[in-house]
Parts: sequence; C-alpha cells; structure tokens
Amino acid sequence: MFKGADVKGDGVTSSQRVLALCGGVGGAKLALGLSHVIDDEKLTIVVNTGDDFDHLGLRICPDIDTVTYTLAGIVNPETGWGRAGETGSFMDALSMLGGEDWFYLGDKDLALHVERTRRLAEGESLSGITAGIAQQLDIGPRILPMSDDPVATMVETTSGTLAFQHYFVRERCQPPVTGFYFDGIEAAKPHSDLLGILADSCLDAVIVCPSNPFVSIDPILSLPGVRQALRDCSAPVIAVSPIVGGKAVKGPTVKMMAELDLAPTSVEVLKRYQDILNGFVLDKRDINDLEQLKTMVDYVEITDTLMLSLDHKIALARAVVDFARRC
Ligand code: GDP
Repeated sequence: MFKGADVKGDGVTSSQRVLALCGGVGGAKLALGLSHVIDDEKLTIVVNTGDDFDHLGLRICPDIDTVTYTLAGIVNPETGWGRAGETGSFMDALSMLGGEDWFYLGDKDLALHVERTRRLAEGESLSGITAGIAQQLDIGPRILPMSDDPVATMVETTSGTLAFQHYFVRERCQPPVTGFYFDGIEAAKPHSDLLGILADSCLDAVIVCPSNPFVSIDPILSLPGVRQALRDCSAPVIAVSPIVGGKAVKGPTVKMMAELDLAPTSVEVLKRYQDILNGFVLDKRDINDLEQLKTMVDYVEITDTLMLSLDHKIALARAVVDFARRC
C-alpha cells in the first residue's frame, strides 16, 4: 500500500546495477524515477547525512527521510519533503509552550524521528534502522546512509558559521555563504557497502542525482576514500545537472553559487565533479553550455531534466540509464 505508483513505467525494468548518490528533494525525484526502471535489488541509493542533526532530543535525518517518504509514495507532493496528509498538533502545542518551533515536525513525521532515536539509543546503526523502516514501508531499492558515523555540514556565512539546519531552515538561507565544511568527515567511514559496490565489477552505472553540489553531494564525495573509489570504479559515473535554465528548480544552489562568485551554470557544477565523471546530463534549456561541457567530459547528454510528474521522473531515469550504457 505504500508503494509510490504501482507500475514500473511501461512494466519493463532494467537489470543494470546502479548506484545513485543523492541529497533530498531534487535527488529523491530521480531516485523515484530510477526505482521504476531498475530492478529493486539492483538499485542502491546512497544518501547524504551531512544535514542530520539533533533537535528536541531527536535524531533527524532530513535527506534520508525525504528519500524514504518519496520512494514509499507518502511524501507531501506540494513541498517534496515531509509526509502527505500531515497534521500539526504537536507543533501547535510546542509553540504554545514557547518551545523551539522553527523546524517543522508534523505529527506523523515525528513518529519516524522518535522511532529512529529510540533504536539509535539501543545501539542499532543508522543504516540498519533506515533499512528496517524502508522494509516496513515496502520500499524495494536499498536506501543507504553515506556513513553510520555522524557528519555535520557547517555553513560559513558573512554573519558567522551556522550548523546546516540553522542556516537552511531557521535563517531561511538568508546569510550570504562564504564556504562549507563537514564536521567529523575525517573520522567518518563511508558505509562499507558503498565502497564494496563501487569496487564490484558487476556495477553498471553510478548516477550523481541532481542535488545541491555543495551541501548534498560534496559531503558524500568528501568521505575518506570515496572520490578515489569513484575514480577507480569500472562503471561509468554520470551526473545530472541540478541547474535548469540557469536556475535552481528549488533551494539555494544558485544563490550559493552567486555568493561564491560562480556563474549559475552547469559548467560550474561539472567542475566540482570533473575528476570522477565520465558523462554529464545537461538540461535542454542550458544548451549554450554544451560546447564547453564537451571539452570537459567524455560524454554529454542533453535532455529535458525538469521532473514535474512521475512520468517525467521515469523518462529522465530511463534516459540517464540509457546514456550510462552508451558511456
Ligand atoms: P535538498 O537536500 O532537499 O535541498 O535537495 P537536493 O540537494 O537533493 O536537491 C536540490 C537541487 O535539486 C536544486 O539544486 C534543484 O535545482 C535540483 N532540482 C530539484 N528538482 C529538479 C528537477 O526536476 N530537475 C533538475 N534537473 N534538478 C532539480
């Protein structure tokens, strides 16, 4: 009953083995598309955990939750995060008590954070808990946290350094950014299955989803050994640009680029991944970047990457998987 849509596109799935690297809302859209075109047991979605934080005594993992709700078909379709049909009694009551109400936690969503926090306190790993919850929600592909060790994305701004959710939610991305770092990254181990899959000669493609390059994909790539494992892996590594028509579809990607003195282009996105990529998927609205991109990476695909509906998500997933096969 939790399955997103009940058919996998035209009913034909690919037996390619795919590893997707993913953040939250943007990445989850393509992950959902991939879940419709790749056999469940052959798709692993590695999710950023740099956004995770402790709040009100709970461990909250926004990107894992967004991917989980999206693949379970219970995500709020208006926001792309949180649960559909959510209620806010807890938040209302918390506000009445003068509690910290800047980070919205819906009543149903709260159950996930309470359950995760309880299981972490009992010594279960984040990856084990994530897998257990995915199973409860009847999700087929594997959702794998990038690490079981805590990593915290910190945002350096002109008004000081902010923990990621303080920047993103409490301050609504207003302070101009000057840089980022990932607290705990040197000591964090990438999940052993992430490295294991990358080293597996049966892997057919690695897909970097259209997620924020600075705060969703960089934390994954910054884990010790991951960039090298991506360079060494035998499968093609493909990134899908999160830039559509010179803009971010949602969120602060382009605002961050402007503040870091980077042009809001796919060229700048590709530069961040150039050492690991074999192929790059550019949106058709950004065709002006095509010639320069061709000088930077072996293969470039140009297509419509705007995923407004489930059909778009499936079509893009299919195009990306086909492209990977050609790379
Ligand atoms: P967050 O962690 O919730 O901010 O989500 P992500 O980092 O995964 O995604 C944010 C990025 O997704 C932004 O840069 C958006 O431009 C991009 N994005 C969102 N929807 C789409 C889409 O339909 N197509 C493409 N190409 N990019 C998208």
